[in-house]
Amino acid sequence: MAFLLRKEIKHLIFWLLLAAGIGWIWDQALAAALTVSLFFISYYLYQLKRLLKWQQTPEEEPPEARGVWGEIFDNLYNYQRHQQGHQYRLKQILDRVQESSQALKDGVIMIDARGELEWWNRAAEDLIGLRSPSDQGSPITHLLREPRFVDYFDKQRYQEPLILPSPITEGRTLEYQITQFGENDRLLLVRDFTRLQRLERMRQDFIANVSHELRTPLTVLSGYLETFSDHADNLPAKWQRGLTLMREQSTRMEHLVEDLLTLSRLETSDLEVSVEPVAVDQLLASIRLDALALSGEEHRISLDIDRQLRVYGSDKELRSAFSNLIFNAVKYTTPGTEIQVRWYHDRAGAHLEVIDDGPGIDPKHLSRLTERFYRVDQGRATSTGGTGLGLAIVKHVMLRHQGRLSINSDVGQGSCFSCHLPITRIYLMSHED
Ligand code: ADP
Repeated sequence: MAFLLRKEIKHLIFWLLLAAGIGWIWDQALAAALTVSLFFISYYLYQLKRLLKWQQTPEEEPPEARGVWGEIFDNLYNYQRHQQGHQYRLKQILDRVQESSQALKDGVIMIDARGELEWWNRAAEDLIGLRSPSDQGSPITHLLREPRFVDYFDKQRYQEPLILPSPITEGRTLEYQITQFGENDRLLLVRDFTRLQRLERMRQDFIANVSHELRTPLTVLSGYLETFSDHADNLPAKWQRGLTLMREQSTRMEHLVEDLLTLSRLETSDLEVSVEPVAVDQLLASIRLDALALSGEEHRISLDIDRQLRVYGSDKELRSAFSNLIFNAVKYTTPGTEIQVRWYHDRAGAHLEVIDDGPGIDPKHLSRLTERFYRVDQGRATSTGGTGLGLAIVKHVMLRHQGRLSINSDVGQGSCFSCHLPITRIYLMSHED
């Protein structure tokens, strides 16, 4: 191209000089040079016009031309062909992506930054009743009006999926999961959750039923063991030991059954909020007395509590969660340990902290502590009579109150278990109350 351009310039200079030379004979050098310049300008304008005309119908062959203009036309033509090939390949990929998304059983819905529907597959039409093309461009929250979905969509906290009944099919449950991409564009995945939910319900019912069925035989066994223990003095020493062990184990099984029943109640029932906001100060004071009894007055338990601070929630469930944390601080630390219980509020909500300066927990266990039956030290748990369900219960109670449990601990540093409740649950008593 550079070569052709140089040639074109030389060409122009040659013709200018020639015209000026010939014109000079008649003393008209300037006029002749101007005439040649005009000719060249007209020629370039003519080629430009052809170029513009061709640009309007790019599918046609480029105009024929020689020299630098021919090169320009050819280059543009080749570039265009290359771009067309590229576009064709991209379109093919897009078609395949759309085709495979259409074949998915899960609903896929693309939503733009304004929350309006951009594209969706057939499964989305079956699952939530979108209509193509009339719903195109409609806000998703006008089509899925369920307040819990609107709240989930607007709050933009998409770490967890949302499970809701289907808006169009009775008895069907759907799982919604949103992923953000681009500039606040969102991809909504909708999945039929009915079968999984049924399985989950079966699992919950099974645990609840087994626990319930075990309760009566266990009560009978424990009752008789207690009666026998009352007369154990007349038994040989080795029988006495056996009896003690049997009593210990039956008590442990009773705790297990109770904790399993508590957990399944938490999973299946609706939250029963007390009519009056829960008087957490009184609740903590009574748990403290129970914890001191459990420790045989060997631990020091101090309360630093905001007496005005109450919360809307279930008195029974909060007692269960808070006592689990305070009893754990007694069970898993040595006598003489200092346990601090704090109850306060700030702009984020209400917080309960149970802090001990006990042995602490290796951070590698922390993320698994709330799993059912997870224990840091299996051997020690047996001796403390723990079921491994305590923290799972706390986590569930918090979830039911839209709160969360957080754990900070390290070996040798003690532990801090905190329950955080949302600001919306707070009730602050006035001094006259
Ligand atoms: P459990 O019902 O057996 O007490 P949890 O779910 O309440 O079980 O606790 C799980 C594990 O967390 C316990 O086995 C124990 O190892 C550890 N843990 C809980 N609280 C404390 C604490 N304050 N200090 C040290 N370890 C603790």
